[in-house]
Amino acid sequence: MGSDKSEYDKKRNLEKSGEPSGNSSGSAGKNSFVIQKHDASHLHYDFRLAIDGALKSWAVPKGPSMDPSEKRLAVEVEDHPLDYADFEGVIPEGEYGAGTVMVWDRGTYSNLRADKEKDSSMAESHKAGLIEVWLKGEKIEGGYALKRFRGGKKPQWLLIKMDDEKADARRKPTSTENESVKSGRDMDEIAEEGDDD
Ligand code: MN
Repeated sequence: MGSDKSEYDKKRNLEKSGEPSGNSSGSAGKNSFVIQKHDASHLHYDFRLAIDGALKSWAVPKGPSMDPSEKRLAVEVEDHPLDYADFEGVIPEGEYGAGTVMVWDRGTYSNLRADKEKDSSMAESHKAGLIEVWLKGEKIEGGYALKRFRGGKKPQWLLIKMDDEKADARRKPTSTENESVKSGRDMDEIAEEGDDD
């Protein structure tokens, strides 16, 4: 067995939790994003963007807003393997991130900073601490900016809806759209599945 395991692998007992191993290329495409609703010690939304073969990940306590005047805290956490984007289920007690995970939204993104003037790749944008993407999901659509305001071990960013034609302060999908885009289940239904193990 190799000893050079990633932080992600070290934190997970994969056989026990049934989470993806990260060994396959996964079904997440090159420009995919996913938002997983995660009822762990604190309910939050994990926002993940596929960048250079991994899912860059942020824990967003309040989830995405459609209102450009709202800034949502997004704490950067460790990269996840691409195939984690499909994971929905229950991470058992005692495991890292124990709790229920829902595929709340998913889709594709385009890099709004990749135009000719700026010519910034996603990796460069991430490094620079300013990401601008157009999301095309089933619930969330439109431009979003991620701005890093504090570095360190768990860098802190703000997730902000850009002011475009998809902005809508009245729409609150994190309150009104509570079902999985993968299975149609709500959090309770996903959690019940975990009880059968
Ligand atoms: Mn999480």
